[in-house]
Amino acid sequence: RPRHPHTARARRSSPPVAATTDNHLLIEGARKSFGGTEVLKGVDLAVAKGRTTAIVGPSGSGKTTLLRLIAGFEAPDAGTISLDGQPVAGPSDWVPAHRRKVGYVAQDGALFPHLTVGQNVAFGLAGRGGKAAAGRVAELLEMVSMDPSYAKRRPHQLSGGQQQRVALARALAREPALMLLDEPFSALDAGLRVATRRAVAATLSEAGVTTILVTHDQAEALSFADQVAVMRDGKLAQIGNPFVVYTRPADRATAEFLGDAV
Ligand code: ADP
Repeated sequence: RPRHPHTARARRSSPPVAATTDNHLLIEGARKSFGGTEVLKGVDLAVAKGRTTAIVGPSGSGKTTLLRLIAGFEAPDAGTISLDGQPVAGPSDWVPAHRRKVGYVAQDGALFPHLTVGQNVAFGLAGRGGKAAAGRVAELLEMVSMDPSYAKRRPHQLSGGQQQRVALARALAREPALMLLDEPFSALDAGLRVATRRAVAATLSEAGVTTILVTHDQAEALSFADQVAVMRDGKLAQIGNPFVVYTRPADRATAEFLGDAV
């Protein structure tokens, strides 16, 4: 796309959300409509490198759409998204999903049902084959607390929690710098959810991966995240330290939503 002549000046004149140099992700004024309905109405969000942000908010408030913009599956209608200080989406910039070093794990994991666990994980290892790939698949399975012997099984032979771990291993195979998790534990029963969450949190923090987690679960947000962002009606109504957000909601609607979420 042609470079817009006024972009550089426009960018300078609108100060960033947080003027730190270690922002891994910076979103400014992101808007997105589908068929005349505005789903994102101007979202600003800064995420520091290696930190975890939980996005909470009612169903339909735009959380998944925001993750899809960050991943590069959709382009914003307005606003800019930068990763490591480099614009990846904006009026004159577009970096496609496969070049963003971003991992994405959907709610249901979405494994390829006809492939084995090992083949699913190896799918994330672009270009590597043979023995090297088999060794790496085993390492990745161990990272998500699964025995490498699971590599020969098919997804339907695994529990929901195991499938989610395989989905995470497949996303980790791409060595993402930023991991986007869209309610990855919501399909699991309570006991499995806690164990899986712990394994995933440990793996990501050990690897220093910046993480954004969409969740309905207050305990998950409190235990997992450095900051909580409350999404409501296409906007981030409040962003802050989890304890502050839950004890001092910015307004009545946020308080009511968080109350419901307990
Ligand atoms: P949340 O994740 O908070 O539940 P979503 O981002 O999934 O919210 O959806 C926000 C709104 O945008 C919903 O009303 C949804 O129907 C709509 N929407 C999302 N993606 C599309 C799409 N590709 N086409 C049309 N509408 C969409």
